[in-house]
Amino acid sequence: MSLAASSIFSLRQRLTAGEISPADILADLSTAILARDPEIGAYLSFDLEAAQIEAAAADLSLPLGGIPIALKDNINVLGQPCTCGSRFLERGYTSPYNATVTERLRAAGAVPFGRMNLDEFAMGSATENSALQITRNPHDLSRIPGGSSGGSAAAVAGNLAIAALGSDTGGSIRQPASHCGVVGLKPSYGRVSRYGLVAFASSLDQIGPLTRTVEDAALILQAIAGPDRRDSTCLDVPVPDYLEDLKKGVAGLRLGIPKEYFDEGIDPAVRALVEAAAARLQAAGAELVEISLPHTEHAVATYYIIAPAEASSNLSRFDGIRYGRRAPSPADLDDLYRSSREEGFGADVKRRIILGTYVLSSGYYDAYYSRAQKVRTLIRRDFEQAWGQVDAILAPVAPTPARKIGEASSDPLQEYLSDICTLAANLAGICAISVPCGTVPSGEGTELPVGLQILGPHLGEATLLRIAKAAEL
Ligand code: GLN
Repeated sequence: MSLAASSIFSLRQRLTAGEISPADILADLSTAILARDPEIGAYLSFDLEAAQIEAAAADLSLPLGGIPIALKDNINVLGQPCTCGSRFLERGYTSPYNATVTERLRAAGAVPFGRMNLDEFAMGSATENSALQITRNPHDLSRIPGGSSGGSAAAVAGNLAIAALGSDTGGSIRQPASHCGVVGLKPSYGRVSRYGLVAFASSLDQIGPLTRTVEDAALILQAIAGPDRRDSTCLDVPVPDYLEDLKKGVAGLRLGIPKEYFDEGIDPAVRALVEAAAARLQAAGAELVEISLPHTEHAVATYYIIAPAEASSNLSRFDGIRYGRRAPSPADLDDLYRSSREEGFGADVKRRIILGTYVLSSGYYDAYYSRAQKVRTLIRRDFEQAWGQVDAILAPVAPTPARKIGEASSDPLQEYLSDICTLAANLAGICAISVPCGTVPSGEGTELPVGLQILGPHLGEATLLRIAKAAEL
């Protein structure tokens, strides 16, 4: 197997045995990228020379020693571009500091390598909202890779990256992982520092890994999790050893099957694969328990009030003065703000800023924003009640496999509705993972991956990974 197609775990074995060097991995990756990324479009940029210098100094005794890891282009690496897939930051902007996850990866010996395409400011589910380029699904180039971490998922699936980090505000790690057939973990809110992640919706955002194996996801989570005084929402609680119990199996665990996630809105082929995965876990010793999460149907409306509200506030910092694009020759200061934002933001970002500003404005705040917060509490309570009965919950990640590029982009509502299976985990702050559970024929000669979603209690990543390991094909 080529180095570019290997797991972190197997590369680490070969590195520590002295069979290969970090430079070999980077060389293999850059060959793969040059050969195949022109058609996939996962990378916005990469700096091979800088990575080679860093790799030469990597401490191979560390857990991720010598492993290149690709970063979604909304996670800061000092001196590197950070476009957020936006015209606003497209030219001339380089990060003035490192995200905490960047520092943690480096402290574990990893080499940040590559800036991965995304929907603009992580808003979207297809990576079609990137203002900079299209990313294609390596399993079927006519289809989306999912999003917003589409570049990260496509690169891992297409053997153009060993592993990657993404961010998940409403499904942006899990859904592209599902569409591309890789593992994608959204940690619990507060498990991983958000410092240095360009904020979309601060009460929902989390950074997490996209990998080839569950074991690799555990390795990366181990490196990036834990308290950080630079992010007050990052919890000051110890991080368990995620590898220790990974292979314990699922015997004796109770797994919830929420009826609201298996209704007629889910493509029957997707439902069949998820049910088959649940049956395999049952055969491995888990008990399946039917449960109800009654407020699930309100997740889309709740999320699409809260996330745009937070986005409208977070994105106000893009004013044409402090970051990136500045409109040339404005008439006055107001015109500078207006023109810079008019030129810099794409349609969906503007739509959300307008929506968010509206739901926060006086007279509408109570009717929308504050009601949404109340429904958010109900959604969180649904899960709290479920944890009284089950250890984790099984569900689809997305209602359908990857759709065609261009198929739905004219209908934002349709696109928002497709997030139905992933939003509740963010609203409740719990952890969730997507693990490949099979493929569906596209009817055009390609096979489209489908993910099984496993949702676990807040800070329940160890059990989540253990179930995911047992579910891994
Ligand atoms: N698809 C969702 C949205 O467009 C989630 C995005 C995300 O998780 N960053 O907002």
